[in-house]
This record gives sequence, C-alpha cells and structure tokens, in this order.
Amino acid sequence: AATRELVLGRIRDVPDHPKPGVVFKDITPLLADPEAFTALTDWFAGLCVRHGATKVVGLEARGFILAAPVAVSAGLGFVPVRKAGKLPGATLGQAYDLEYGSAEIEVHAEDLAAGDRVMVIDDVLATGGTAGASLELIRRAGAEVAGVAVLMELGFLGGRARLETALGGAPLDAL
Ligand code: IMP
Repeated sequence: AATRELVLGRIRDVPDHPKPGVVFKDITPLLADPEAFTALTDWFAGLCVRHGATKVVGLEARGFILAAPVAVSAGLGFVPVRKAGKLPGATLGQAYDLEYGSAEIEVHAEDLAAGDRVMVIDDVLATGGTAGASLELIRRAGAEVAGVAVLMELGFLGGRARLETALGGAPLDAL
C-alpha cells in the first residue's frame, strides 16, 4: 500500500495529450524520483520471482525504462519488443489492430526460446492490443508466459478482457 501511494503520487495526468479528449498518464515525475522508481522496480521484481519468470520483456518505449532495472535487480535477461523495423537481426513480427489502422511489433527470434518463462512489463495497459501482440510473439517463439505486469491499467478501456485468451491463465498484475 505504501508503494502504491508513493508511486501513483508521482504520475501526472496531462489533459488533451496527444490529442483532445485523452488524459495522458505521464510517468516522468516518477522516473525523476529515485525513491518511487526504486519502490516500483522492487514491486515488479517481486512479481517476477512470484511468477517464476526467467526473462523480462519490455515494450517500447516506456516499458524499456521500467523493465530494464527490473531485469537487473531480479537477475534475469532483458528482451526488447520493438516497433517494426528497428531490430537489426532475424525477427518474429506480430501485427495488431489500433483504434484507427494497425501496428506491428517485433522481437529478435534468438532472444526467446522453449524453456523461457517471460514476464511482460509496460507502463500503461490501455486497450491491451500491444500486450496481447507481445504474448503472441512469446508463444510463437516457443516460450511460456509468466505474466503481464503494468504500472497502470485503464480499466474503462477493457484491456483485461481483451487479453484473457492470450494470457491463457497467466496473471495480469497492475499496481
Ligand atoms: P494499448 O495497446 O491500447 O493497451 O496501449 C498501450 C500502449 O500505449 C502502452 O505501450 C503505453 O505505453 C501506451 N499508452 C496508452 N495510453 C497511455 C497513457 O495515458 N500514458 C502513457 N502511455 C500510454
């Protein structure tokens, strides 16, 4: 509960960003506060241990910032899932629908394999499209899903329900 107050007290609501009508959850005040950033990292790392993760996936771009210290703290490898076209090696790709149009994410094929149990970390779960596509990538690579963990879940967007099949019983935790 102390972690929750400390961390969520450092999230800034920015109205009408990136477009009118959207309230953007800005994590930069949290990142600038070492006590809050450490508390959040400890919370994520505890989930990695509890769910038996062996690797940590961060979703571009804010997921990178949050997941990298978790991987180091938990003693696990970090794997970036990037927007299409950024990773230089052989990749697996997964397209997913956006409100208008579609997007694609990629992972280096050699970074995930059978026997891995992967924790996916991001800042915000909105519609669940991005996280869902990352779970498809993990499964297609032959790895197992340990869980999805996010700082904030925007419950009114229904992401949890949309992720149910892709999670296949794996936990979805939100601070
Ligand atoms: P989804 O695919 O609709 O669940 O959107 C999740 C992605 O959009 C995540 O990678 C988030 O970083 C980003 N996102 C959506 N809404 C916000 C927000 O209010 N603040 C920060 N990131 C957001």
